Amino acid sequence: MSTQNRLRIALQRSGRLADSSLELLARCGLKTMRGKDQLVCVGENLPVDLMLVRDDDVPFLIREGVCDAGIVGFNLAREIELELLGRGEDCGFEIEQTLDFGACRLSIAGPEEAPFRGLGDLSGQRIATSYPATLAWFLREQGISAQIVTLSGSVEIAPRLGTADLVCDLVSTGNTLAANGLIERMEVSQSQAVLLRAKETFIEDRAEVFERMLERMRGVLQVRESKYIMLHAPRAALTDIRRLLPGSEIPTVMPLEGSADRVAIHAVCNENVFWETLEALKAAGASALLVLPVEKMLA
Ligand code: ATP
Ligand code: ZN
Repeated sequence: MSTQNRLRIALQRSGRLADSSLELLARCGLKTMRGKDQLVCVGENLPVDLMLVRDDDVPFLIREGVCDAGIVGFNLAREIELELLGRGEDCGFEIEQTLDFGACRLSIAGPEEAPFRGLGDLSGQRIATSYPATLAWFLREQGISAQIVTLSGSVEIAPRLGTADLVCDLVSTGNTLAANGLIERMEVSQSQAVLLRAKETFIEDRAEVFERMLERMRGVLQVRESKYIMLHAPRAALTDIRRLLPGSEIPTVMPLEGSADRVAIHAVCNENVFWETLEALKAAGASALLVLPVEKMLA
């Protein structure tokens, strides 16, 4: 098949998003010859190739038309979009789907010993960050004037070095901050991994391949929490039972051999089914309760 028809997806080669990104594509059925040192990973069973690069390159590869889609943190996509916008340029990519991994937040943090009462205390401070465009946007929105110190790495040591009073950096557990004597003061924005796509229409059949991968990704995201539940219940309790099934579509109701008033109910629940739910179902008259994981789903 010509390379014209092969969809190109850019992923982080190594780092926090790398494994989950590859795993997501594998769960979408993509088999690749796994050579992590290679720049390009060729899909064996689908017309999809992966480019494994630094996360910072992903949005630009899409913008330049080298790749059709890619996975990065929302934080990075937003920063690049705002940065280009500031120069009057369009980013050339858009967010197609959030992916439920890589959760973190961009937050302003400061030394534990420095008092902080609220937003007003940011005024006139020097804030070190690798996300200057996002921070500038936040400060503008909040009507605060502060000095942004742009650093490409090791932001968290800036207060100790005396090059800044505060930092604006990514946080997930807060452990890195704590290890540097910093405490989270204010959230700027939340983030998780997102699927980016080129704004331009895709070449030839790539559009079709993209839609297919997207549909599979949505299926993968949906089944994560989904459960298939089976139970027996009195026909008279059907309305109560349906109300108790978390996030379910119309259930299948089947007669039970040799029983006039009890039926079997099967349903897909789009939320996790907890013990409390099972206990409530039992109290409503259900028996023989069984909860199974869902492997694949196509709506
Ligand atoms: P690369 O070598 O690809 O440039 P990197 O060092 O820039 O890697 P990572 O540290 O791997 O990037 O982070 C990639 C993304 O992971 C971040 O942009 C963010 O969206 C997400 N992430 C999730 N949790 C955290 C966290 N605690 N700190 C930093 N990033 C996080
Ligand atoms: Zn990076």
